[in-house]
Amino acid sequence: MENDIKEVLLTPEQITAIAKDIGTQISKDYKGKNLVLLCLLKGSICFMAELMKYITIPCVIDFMAVSSYGSGTESSGRVNIVKDMSTPAENMDILIVEDIIDSGNTLSFMLQYFKAKNCASVEIATLLNKPSRRKKEVPVKYSGQEIDDLFVVGFGLDYAEYYRNLPYIGVLKESVYSDTEE
Ligand code: 5GP
Repeated sequence: MENDIKEVLLTPEQITAIAKDIGTQISKDYKGKNLVLLCLLKGSICFMAELMKYITIPCVIDFMAVSSYGSGTESSGRVNIVKDMSTPAENMDILIVEDIIDSGNTLSFMLQYFKAKNCASVEIATLLNKPSRRKKEVPVKYSGQEIDDLFVVGFGLDYAEYYRNLPYIGVLKESVYSDTEE
């Protein structure tokens, strides 16, 4: 598994530093609010778990699963809800916790979805951001690290469901997916 990684982009220590910074800021910004940390499965589980350790105000957590990727490295552009959240969203301050923003399709869909839910607010926190790949603009309140147009895995992020358990963010060697994709 380690042999498939070309380069480590973020070490576990760097990820923790990002989570600490963002968590501290969220704790200030959301004081007195009805914060719901909404983890987008599956890729965001590690960032969610790291981030919530540094949030020092009352909050609830919830999970949604949406799919836009097949088994490859390109988004299909179609977003489906696979699992909805269980907390009623009405009057809540929803903070969507995302692993990475690429085309923006997923989050644009999510923001649209919450428009009809009468939330107090809906914002986005992401560990990684690829602005050069954006097709739909989305307002990102908390952004950890901007990266170039690279396909990364680890710390929750997968390729064909593998590599999520790597403790760092790494660039996957092209040879791993060039044989299986056109
Ligand atoms: P978007 O809808 O913004 O194009 O893509 C969002 C989702 O695509 C992310 O939550 C993530 O699951 C997946 N994704 C985007 N870029 C990458 C990447 O570089 N590596 C991996 N493993 N997944 C990615």
